Amino acid sequence: MFDCIIIGTGPAGISAALTLKSRGKNFMLIGSAGLSAKISAAEQINNYPGLPAVEGGALKAAFMEQLAGMGISITQASVTGVYDMGGYYGVLSGSDSYESKTVILAVGVEAVKPVPGELEFLGRGVSYCATCDGLLYRGKNIVVVCTSKAMEEEAEYLASLASSLTFVPLYKGASLSGGNVTVITGMPVAIRGSQRVESVEFRDRVVPCDGVFMLKSAIAPSALVPGLNAEGGHVVVDRSCRTNLGGLFAAGDCTGRPYQYAKAVGEGNVAAHSVCDYLAKV
Ligand SMILES: Cc1cc2nc3c(=O)[nH]c(=O)nc-3n(C[C@H](O)[C@H](O)[C@H](O)COP(=O)(O)OP(=O)(O)OC[C@H]3O[C@@H](n4cnc5c(N)ncnc54)[C@H](O)[C@@H]3O)c2cc1C
Repeated sequence: MFDCIIIGTGPAGISAALTLKSRGKNFMLIGSAGLSAKISAAEQINNYPGLPAVEGGALKAAFMEQLAGMGISITQASVTGVYDMGGYYGVLSGSDSYESKTVILAVGVEAVKPVPGELEFLGRGVSYCATCDGLLYRGKNIVVVCTSKAMEEEAEYLASLASSLTFVPLYKGASLSGGNVTVITGMPVAIRGSQRVESVEFRDRVVPCDGVFMLKSAIAPSALVPGLNAEGGHVVVDRSCRTNLGGLFAAGDCTGRPYQYAKAVGEGNVAAHSVCDYLAKV
């Protein structure tokens, strides 16, 4: 059982990891081993103390060096669910699961808003995880909405199981093909159904289906953690980065504006200290 699992390898998650390491905690840092894409995406950062006019790539290199220097490794994975087990948390990533006394959500904010119907039908035909739910759709007709080329592998796996797969890439240069694959362009307008998903509506057509896979790098925190308080897509936290769930903390962009490195790093630090306070009391 870990003392803490930090989800997300952006500035908030990195900062939390550095502090937990300094405090001698047994934790896991889960996310992209190449760190948040939002770090290297910045051309030049002028408001980060101590590093004037730093390029995103240079900041990323400095973060990587600092993590390695502190002996902090990253578990390269995407978390698909966090469950309150009454006293500890179960953290799922595909077919892997981990247990931890506390969790820090440092998952950033989604660029793509949920499609109407997506959250309503989550677990009733909408899935975020090909590995977890793919087998449920063997021989079925599915729609796969994919937000990045890096996730095409998951769509290929789903194509190997489904009877028919309508592939909706939200990026250029998609290359999924196959006898049972139909590629269409355009954002879905809505996911429709009654008890379960029945179709996906686009501007120019309706595609009947048994299920929809939304393959994206960031899942809305409230969809990731059942029972978590969120407002306007942001996790509700107090000044100690505590959420409404005991032992679960949040930091960085996912708690709200301003979306800035310095704020993310600051909250990561606060959340880590709150984890230590919490662990001292349980
Ligand atoms: C082009 C650009 C330029 C910017 N310039 C500036 C600037 O000059 N100054 C400034 O202060 N800010 C700037 N920002 C904003 C800054 O990048 C963000 O505020 C900062 O990265 C937020 O850090 P974070 O750790 O909260 O989230 P993020 O950096 O978004 O990191 C969150 C990480 O968690 C991962 N994640 C999400 N869900 C999961 C999951 N389920 N499992 C595992 N991992 C998950 C994400 O993939 C991501 O890697 C810029 C942003 C962009 C895009």
